[in-house]
Amino acid sequence: MSKSETINILVTNDDGIHADGLLALKTALDSIGKVWVVAPDRPRSACGHSITLHKPLRLTRVKLADCSYGYACSGTPSDSVSLGVPGVVQGKVDLLVSGINRGPNLGWDLTYSGTVSAAMEGVILGIPSIAVSVASYGDDISFDYAAEYTAILAKKILKDGLPTDTLLNINVPALPRDQIKGIEVTTQGRRRYSGTVDKRVDPNGRAYYWLGGDTVIDGLEEGTDVKAVAGGKVSVTPIHLDLTDYSYLEKLKQLVASAD
Ligand code: MN
Repeated sequence: MSKSETINILVTNDDGIHADGLLALKTALDSIGKVWVVAPDRPRSACGHSITLHKPLRLTRVKLADCSYGYACSGTPSDSVSLGVPGVVQGKVDLLVSGINRGPNLGWDLTYSGTVSAAMEGVILGIPSIAVSVASYGDDISFDYAAEYTAILAKKILKDGLPTDTLLNINVPALPRDQIKGIEVTTQGRRRYSGTVDKRVDPNGRAYYWLGGDTVIDGLEEGTDVKAVAGGKVSVTPIHLDLTDYSYLEKLKQLVASAD
């Protein structure tokens, strides 16, 4: 597909508009269409799908490191999507790409993730949407391969579309490209963190807490995103916004009926 001004791509993230990962993504997508950047004005990682309802939002035109301009949003990633469509993008948004996040968004991380939530907002607005992350928090990670691969997949999605209510969640191992062992279509796995509450005492003797914890406990079931990335593969997971447990519906109906 040659560059066409008629293809509008909205890029956002949760690491903030000046993050390296966003610039790498924008640069790769510039070859596909007109890229519009609307992203939080500061890091908003792990804000989930929160939206700002209790105060006004502002959009500020800012110069990016490639000398193009984007819009910094004073709200969350989801707010950035809401303000970008249709406030900033001139015309129909053909694709939304959120990232490239610094750090993985695997398994149960998704419900915390601002990166993935921005793509969810895109889905709600009827836009084919992709979230992309590199699975490391290191300062020296390269986003080049993740950006390149996302652009390749983005071209396919622009042509084929995505099912209703579905986004793609891409996670790329933080490895040199010659060590990446392939690409796997995966399911959402299980990932939790242990020791996530660090209790401390302030100078006045009152307790305070740090949430965090860096001990990841992955359920390494075959076919999952966590397993693929642990094995050095890129994971591509179709994520559906319907969280209903269909397998439990009938049993629950019986349970509810019997509780009358
Ligand atoms: Mn982030």
